[in-house]
Amino acid sequence: SLSVSGVSVRFGSFAALADVELEVAEHEVVAVLGPSGSGKSTLLRVVAGLQEPSAGRVVLDGVDVTKVPPHRRGVGLMFQDHALFTHKDVAGNIRFGNAWADVASLLSLVGLPDAGPRAVVTLSGGEQQRVALARALAPSPKLLMLDEPLGQLDRELRERLVVELRRLFVRLGTTVLAVTHDQREAFALADRVVVMAGGRIAQVGTPRDVWEQPASEFVARFLGFTN
Ligand code: ATP
Ligand code: MG
Repeated sequence: SLSVSGVSVRFGSFAALADVELEVAEHEVVAVLGPSGSGKSTLLRVVAGLQEPSAGRVVLDGVDVTKVPPHRRGVGLMFQDHALFTHKDVAGNIRFGNAWADVASLLSLVGLPDAGPRAVVTLSGGEQQRVALARALAPSPKLLMLDEPLGQLDRELRERLVVELRRLFVRLGTTVLAVTHDQREAFALADRVVVMAGGRIAQVGTPRDVWEQPASEFVARFLGFTN
């Protein structure tokens, strides 16, 4: 489980995150929605240990990891621009930093059983995102964080993959925190949805709660309601 409490991130006088509180239960899939610049990636970076908060705490499975370096937190992070190494083959990408990874099972898991020896540049965008996902899963993270995991894909592929992802997370029992711009994707993927605005959490709830009872004018407008 993840507990973020009182987390702020300031850059000079600008607050990228302001007093963020968030609890994610074990095996829960939570989607983070919000406009560009609202602090979604910053939140993931703080939980991953790549951004030190100006204030607040990050607790993973009851352990305060606020000062623990990223590679000792037991979390997996898949970046917005999946950032595969183009000079390594697929297997090399998955093994990087995860020397003992079971590459074959990870590739089967993401539906690319034969891709191990392929050069990354020969994969399609969707295949590259699956490889990035396999790499994020390689250390068997307690918490998997995904920043726009399907960002560069067309709608049809996104809709297919989102269903696969959901099944995969349920099967593995992975706790997931996933950023997306796409509310349909968030609603299809997640048990709960977090809506961010200006570095704050504007609403947290089940997709149904957020859809039926937006907490504010902002959330309603963000979800596309007009008045
Ligand atoms: P997007 O949907 O565009 O990816 P986001 O919600 O992920 O947006 P963040 O990347 O978390 O947004 O950034 C939140 C705000 O913090 C932005 O205005 C960004 O410019 C600012 N910010 C992030 N990192 C830094 C930094 N190192 N220095 C200064 N400002 C920063
Ligand atoms: Mg971002």
